[in-house]
Formats: sequence, structure tokens, C-alpha cells
Amino acid sequence: MIKKVAVLTSGGDAPGMNAAIRSVVLAAHHYKLQTIGFYSGYNGLIEDSSTPLTPASVNGIIHRGGTILKSARCPAMHTEQGLKLAAATLEKEEVDALIVIGGDGSFNGLLALNQHWTGRIIGIPGTIDNDIDGTDFTIGFSTAVNTGIEAIDKIRDTAEAFERIFIVELMGRRSGHITFNVGIACAAEQILSFENFSQDDEQEKLSHLAKEISRAQQNRHASYIIVIAENLWRGGATELARQLKETANIDCTACILGYIQRGGSPVAKDRILATKMGVAAVQELIAGNDKVMIGERNNQLLTVPLAVAVLHKEKVSENLVSAQENILALTAQ
Ligand code: ATP
Repeated sequence: MIKKVAVLTSGGDAPGMNAAIRSVVLAAHHYKLQTIGFYSGYNGLIEDSSTPLTPASVNGIIHRGGTILKSARCPAMHTEQGLKLAAATLEKEEVDALIVIGGDGSFNGLLALNQHWTGRIIGIPGTIDNDIDGTDFTIGFSTAVNTGIEAIDKIRDTAEAFERIFIVELMGRRSGHITFNVGIACAAEQILSFENFSQDDEQEKLSHLAKEISRAQQNRHASYIIVIAENLWRGGATELARQLKETANIDCTACILGYIQRGGSPVAKDRILATKMGVAAVQELIAGNDKVMIGERNNQLLTVPLAVAVLHKEKVSENLVSAQENILALTAQ
């Protein structure tokens, strides 16, 4: 029988985390469970830094980006001592179940913690990267994509006006969900992502890009936008721009969107997804479920073993990649 639930947000912050916290707290209150929130990811467990959470404490947060519980990386969780400290805090605070809103790293942390603590654990996928298996979308992804689109639409105006070439670098760590979706939605002339490019082919790609850009310029294409995933090209967008200048005398402006993609008010899709998942997490705990993540497939909530959620087997939709590679990129020139 569960009496006390703890919640924390971990890893990169994602728009919609607050909506998820709110819905966990409201659902727990509904089922007469006590809720506490730990601050700053797993650091809050290690340092025993927590706050009671009531419906009043989550009032007026659904529209706010970031997370009221703060988020952080916590290197100590990679050590035996850190895991034991975290487990001891949960024991001391008499927590029966821990809900972690975060990415795959956070779920690995949860599984590691579970080796030292026997309470129930549930994950809610909160990361802009969308790189978690077993769910169509993670909380924060849709907002990040919209933010990227808005930014590139603005860059496009300048690119058109000045007849310029821009290389825009997008977040996603090792996954191309943001890059591919933003690139498609902005009608980027080129999308360079993990799904269609490998670092081994840099030289070949460089000459291909130079040819494509020259062709577009001959066709009086006013603007040209290349979107590129972070951690893909050695040296990133700035280095790619430098290489295009050096090898083909092409002037490009590199633009790294960076942290702008993580913040901001969550779009409707993220607020709604987060709210559904928060309620489901509490209901799964009450139903006796353990070591699972709440996911959503085809608009249906489901549970996925945490150990499966972190496998990184799911990739960007092949339809999207092949439409870009075989049709859009070729005919838009
Ligand atoms: P995002 O995808 O937004 O970056 P994430 O949850 O994947 O989010 P990470 O930095 O990978 O972010 O992980 C968050 C935290 O989870 C780490 O700082 C660490 O405290 C914990 N963690 C990650 N992997 C492990 C692991 N193998 N063992 C123990 N703890 C871990």
C-alpha cells in the first residue's frame, strides 16, 4: 500500500515538465497520497533537499517552461556511494514510490538506484530529444520543434533578403528527431542528421553540398538553409561553414540555436501529453505497477519496462527520411 510519492525532474529541462509535476500532484492528492518533490534532479536525493507538494504548490505552473523542481545532472549517481546516499534519503523520508520525469539517462539512474532501494519506480519521458523507446513522443519535443521552426522561419526572411546561405545547428544530442522534423517543416534545402549521414563521409558530403549550393545559386535560389544536428559534423556548423569557404569559396553563416530550444512555454501538445502521463503514472503505481515508463502510442497510453525505454532502438520515421532524401531535397532545387 503506497502512502507517499516523491517526484523529481532530471537531465535537460523540457517544456511540459511543470505540467507533468502538476498532474502527478493533483492525481496523488485525488487518491489521497502524500507527495514530495526533490530539487535539482538526483542531487535532491543525495542532499536530502525536498519540498512538500500540494495542489496549491502546483497552481499556475502548467504554462511555464523549465521546472519548478529545478533540474540538473548529478555525477554522484554514477558512484556506489551516491546511490546509497540517495536510497538512504528515500528511506528516511519514508517514500514508497519515486516518479522521475527525465530522459534515458535519468531512467538509467532510476534503475541503478533501484539496486539499493526497494520502493516502486516509474518514469515519465521528459526530454526535448524524443530519443526514448516505447513512446511516440516525449514531453518537450513538440515545443522544441516549434521553437526551432519559428527561429528558422525568421532566419529564412534574412536569408531571402540578403540572398544568403545559412547553416543552422539544432539540438538533439545523438538523435535526429528535432533536426529532421524542424528541417522538413522549414523546407530546409539540406538536412544533415544521424539518419542520413555518417562522419566518415564528411569529404564526400562537403563536395556534394558545394555542388548543390552552386546549382541553387545558378537557379537564382535566393536563400539556402542547411539544418544540421549537433554532434554530427566534426567542429559543428561553424566548422562546416569554414570548410565550404575554404574548399569551394562559398560564404555561409553558421547559426547555433542552442538553448533557445529547451525553454519557453509548452505548446498544447506537450501540456496535454504531460498531464495525461502524470495522471497515468500515479494510477499505475496504485495498480501495483513498477519499473515502467509511461508511454503513448497511437494516442493510447501504455507502460513500457524502463529497461526497454533506454535501448535507443527507435529512430526517426523512415517515411520522413526517405521523403526528404528521395523527393523533397531533389525537387526543391
Ligand atoms: P536529456 O536527454 O534531456 O539530456 P537525460 O535524463 O538523458 O536527459 P542525462 O544527463 O543523461 O540526461 O542523465 C541525467 C542524470 O541521470 C545524470 O546526471 C545522472 O545523475 C543520472 N544517470 C544517468 N545515467 C546513469 C547511470 N548509468 N547510473 C546512474 N545514474 C545515471
